[in-house]
Amino acid sequence: MLEPTTATMGPWFAFVRERLNDADAQALCEAAFSVKYSALISGTDLAVDESQIEVLRDFIRRRAHGEPVAYILGTRGFWRREFYVSSDTLIPRPETETLIETVMPFLSHTSRVLDLGTGCGVLGLTLASETGAHVLMTDVSCDTLRVARRNAANLKIDVRLRRSNWYDAIEGTFDCIVSNPPYVASRDKHMQNGDLLFEPVVALDGGIDGLNALRHVVGEAPAYLYTGGRLAVEHGFNQADAVHALFQSAGFHDIELVHDLSHHPRVTHGVLQ
Ligand code: GLN
Repeated sequence: MLEPTTATMGPWFAFVRERLNDADAQALCEAAFSVKYSALISGTDLAVDESQIEVLRDFIRRRAHGEPVAYILGTRGFWRREFYVSSDTLIPRPETETLIETVMPFLSHTSRVLDLGTGCGVLGLTLASETGAHVLMTDVSCDTLRVARRNAANLKIDVRLRRSNWYDAIEGTFDCIVSNPPYVASRDKHMQNGDLLFEPVVALDGGIDGLNALRHVVGEAPAYLYTGGRLAVEHGFNQADAVHALFQSAGFHDIELVHDLSHHPRVTHGVLQ
């Protein structure tokens, strides 16, 4: 299909749908033409100008080379908000909302929460804004922390941020620790797929069995939690048993596995006694 000769929205949307899947075509056209989906499907005859078409051409080119839509648009929705994302951060996944649902009932405005390896900040910022908890968000990368800081400012959410390699720069005691650490096994074929090829390896690669970061995050957690404090981590669908064992040997009780919306084992949490 050749490029449309008319500068109206309908033919251009159809052109993009020929090349990309429907969801990507929709997201990129909405952004290029600054319209919502309803206008995109009803406004077939709406005029678009050459600069919008140029933006769309650039989007199509980049997507065709595999660049994730979230990086092209610089944004991704999580829970109830839009977060700025860049190639310095993992792209927020819907399954990570499972971790929010899991810990939210246990938090209040008096809770002290530590978010380890925050990335663009979805966990810490969502928990702070939904519960009023005092949240410290950490990441090993300054570039990544800059993204999290920008999201905190954009969304006007009051949190603290600190550069730390897991617990290295952490002092004090918390009511709750949350983390979505890298947990994909280094040689997992999944690493060579789609969006993952463009995402920071440091945010994905959990070593030979994918559990390196989880071992550290779970194993050291007791030193930073009050008695009765809770640890909740995201993990791979096939890591539930191994993570349960890590929680047990670190001294956690009431260990529970939570499945994500695709019915995959995804989050484990437990209480320190
Ligand atoms: N859920 C991601 C994936 O498998 C991995 C995220 C992570 O390692 N924290 O694509």
